[in-house]
Amino acid sequence: MKILLVEDEKGLIVTLTDRLTSEGFDVTSAADGKTGFDLACEQQFDLILLDVMLPKKNGYDIARDLRQKGIQTPILMLTAKGETIDKVLGLKLGADDYLTKPFEVIELLARIEALLRRSPNNSESAPNGAFRFGDVGVDFKRAEVKKSNTKVELSAMEFRLLQYFIENRGTVHSRDDLLDAVWGYDAMPTTRTVDVHIAWLRQKLEENPRHPQYIQTVHGMGYKFVV
Ligand code: CA
Repeated sequence: MKILLVEDEKGLIVTLTDRLTSEGFDVTSAADGKTGFDLACEQQFDLILLDVMLPKKNGYDIARDLRQKGIQTPILMLTAKGETIDKVLGLKLGADDYLTKPFEVIELLARIEALLRRSPNNSESAPNGAFRFGDVGVDFKRAEVKKSNTKVELSAMEFRLLQYFIENRGTVHSRDDLLDAVWGYDAMPTTRTVDVHIAWLRQKLEENPRHPQYIQTVHGMGYKFVV
């Protein structure tokens, strides 16, 4: 089980890493929010221990941005004493549980185990790892899409775009939002790239690509996925 620890207190990093490692967890730590966020995006973790007050990017922003990117790794927030409102905010933004500092390691372990039990094997997917709309079936675990039971070949980017749409269905996304969420901040594609990929997805999945039923254009704003 891989745990990402995002925490800027050196003493706590050492203590928690030692303890969690001795419990059999594989611990990766990040001492600032930006590094933690990047690691959570690039690698697969089973759980994220997330401090709130962090240099470069705070815990709330990390939780919110991860969820926006469709990353569903369970998050256990570590809040400072007395930050009651902050706990609520953390849960609202996508954290799964919180623990107030200072805490007993035994309590932390109990929370971690509870979260891991609840987590559907940490996959970044929709519930049950599958999703259906119309005659299209999406299997997130196998990264497979079928239309009328015939396999549809999607590129990795088309699949990621479709997954993002499904996980955020009903929401309007600007082209820039889609670029950030699906292609990533460091990528250099233009908003035209988004249009092209959407055209391809419609071609492959929609009954009538010229009058799309699922991947809709919202004029002047962007796109939304509707089921
Ligand atoms: Ca801190």
